Parts: sequence; structure tokens; C-alpha cells
Amino acid sequence: MILPILQYGEPILRAKGKRIDEIDDRIRQLAADMIETMHAAHGVGLAAQQIGEGLQLTVLDISAVEDRPSTLKVDGSDVDPRTAMPLVLINPEIDLLGETQVGVEGCLSFPEITGDIERAESAVIRAQNLEGDTIQIEAGGFLARAIQHEHDHLNGILFIDRMRSAEKVALSGRLRRLQKETKRGGRHREALVSEVTL
Ligand SMILES: [Zn+2]
Repeated sequence: MILPILQYGEPILRAKGKRIDEIDDRIRQLAADMIETMHAAHGVGLAAQQIGEGLQLTVLDISAVEDRPSTLKVDGSDVDPRTAMPLVLINPEIDLLGETQVGVEGCLSFPEITGDIERAESAVIRAQNLEGDTIQIEAGGFLARAIQHEHDHLNGILFIDRMRSAEKVALSGRLRRLQKETKRGGRHREALVSEVTL
């Protein structure tokens, strides 16, 4: 089932997600609905807060992104990232590695807004999957960026918080309009069709 994606201005986007102690049918259905919603919106990642659930749950699928390379290691071995998609991460913990890189990002909760965001070039993530197994992966490139964006969502952090102040100032009018529209209960109908929307 495709779920409505909440926009900037909804308080739950600022909520830290609760840890998921039991992966039951509700969580499995929620993850399936989030994957369907993310694909329908042409996004590459979606966090539970964006569909109104304050939980440590995020889904990603970077398999359609061709111009921004990703790497993935599972248990120390290289894996083609596309074969691991969609990725469901429950209760993820993240360690950042390497240098930082600036790259453009969008967000499904901020229609038509993008920004240059500095992120670590790789990251080690420990999380549970839908089977309840603990997985440890090392992500690099665009996948590392996408996971950092989603991990931020799970902690109530939004990509505008990581924009350079000049960029945020330049966007302030659009952000205010978006917040107002959200408070009025409006919703952008046109999704930003982009490979960088998380
Ligand atoms: Zn986002």
C-alpha cells in the first residue's frame, strides 16, 4: 500500500525514532509499504518518520542510480550493491569512515528542494533485517550518503540542518512556504522525480 509522505513542517519529522524490539507482522507490513511508497515516489530512501511512524526503520534502493557509484561489503566481502536492494535497516547504528565529500541531495519530505551536503565517504552500519538477524555492512559512495541521510531522519535530523548557512538562507523563503503549506494540510502533488531524493 502506498502511504502518504509527510512534508517539512510535520512535527514527527523531528522525532527520534523508537527502537524496534520485536519484528512482527506489523513491522514487516510497514517495511513492505515503505518500499512500495519509496518506489512510487522515485525515491532512493525512505525513513519511518516520513510516513508518520517514529520508529528506527528505514528502507533504501539505490539500484536505479547509475551516475553515482556505490560500494558495499557484507561480512568483509564485496557485494554488488544492486543485488542487496531493497535494503531494510532496523535499529541501525553507524560509524563514519574516511574523508568527507560534498554531494547534491534531495528529500521526499522537501519537494523540489536540493542542496549540497557534506557526508563521510563511507560508513559501517550495524542493523537488524526483517528476519531479525544482525547484519554488518560497509557502504561507500552514494549508498553511504543515502544511509547517512536516512540515519539522520531516524534521529529527527533533516538535510537542511547540514546545509551551509548561505545555502539555507537562500532557501529560507521556500522552506517557510513549505512549512505553511504543510500546516494548512496541503501537499505537493508533483513529486520531484530525481535519483537523489531520499
Ligand atoms: Zn529525506
